[in-house]
Amino acid sequence: MQIDDLPPLRDVIATHGLDAKKSLGQNFLLDLNLTSKIARLAGDISGHDVLEVGPGPGGLTRGLLAAGARRVVALEKDPRCMAALSEISAAYPGRLDVFNADALEFDMRGQLTGPVRVVANLPYNVGTELLVRWLTPKDWPPFWSSLTLMFQKEVAERIIAKPGTKAYGRLGILAQWKSTPSVVMELPPEAFTPPPKVHSAVVHLEALAQPRFPAPAGLLSSTVAMAFNQRRKMLRSSLKSAAPDIETALRDAGLEPTARAEEISLEGFCALARRLAK
Ligand code: SAM
Repeated sequence: MQIDDLPPLRDVIATHGLDAKKSLGQNFLLDLNLTSKIARLAGDISGHDVLEVGPGPGGLTRGLLAAGARRVVALEKDPRCMAALSEISAAYPGRLDVFNADALEFDMRGQLTGPVRVVANLPYNVGTELLVRWLTPKDWPPFWSSLTLMFQKEVAERIIAKPGTKAYGRLGILAQWKSTPSVVMELPPEAFTPPPKVHSAVVHLEALAQPRFPAPAGLLSSTVAMAFNQRRKMLRSSLKSAAPDIETALRDAGLEPTARAEEISLEGFCALARRLAK
């Protein structure tokens, strides 16, 4: 069953010659029931502008429009997809604006009016780079209220990881400092055409009004990076160059100098960054 009167995605791909390009990380979702489900996982989008990055042939775009997005602004790097996407614009007058642009280069904020939800099924490397950028704007709160993004499952696990696990590290600390992330769907390789080598997962992140604990952003980031670059070492050794008397600083922040990065909670790292700022 179709979610709109447009042709099935396999026909769209054949008509417009959209053979998947590996260099653009093209693994398409062709099941419109699935794309509708992902659109619903973004939350209530009826009163929102939705920024979609990497719409490709438009399966998820159609899901977002059918789910009632007020407006979708889509950024797609591959010029071959433009004709297919303009057919969707024509079917939803005034609700879809498509830009042929690289999301890593193009500042899309000027195109959007709030509240904004971001939804994307992107190549994994681009997705992680954009996630970090979206989590580290100059001012907080950011232009978006939520991000709903496809990642390879291993990256999704890092985003939600808790202390004491192998997946816990810089990405999870940043994501959990600024948002509430959760894995809302897991997908096997066969869900995509062509299938990627790995399993995937959709992560939904709701922006916090302010970071979960107070901390100077630059020092938090550099301290966490230093601690996890030598994750097997005790903090008194991995953070040796962070302060002249790091053992005292760690104790003042309520941390054991013999603990390792993996054991320190987000709150603990924030306390340490505040102490190091003094
Ligand atoms: N959203 C579609 C779907 O679910 O079927 C396509 C997903 S495919 C994994 C990734 C899409 O992102 C492709 O259409 C690709 O051309 C596009 N893309 C890759 N790099 C991009 C970039 N830097 N900026 C914008 N789009 C990009």
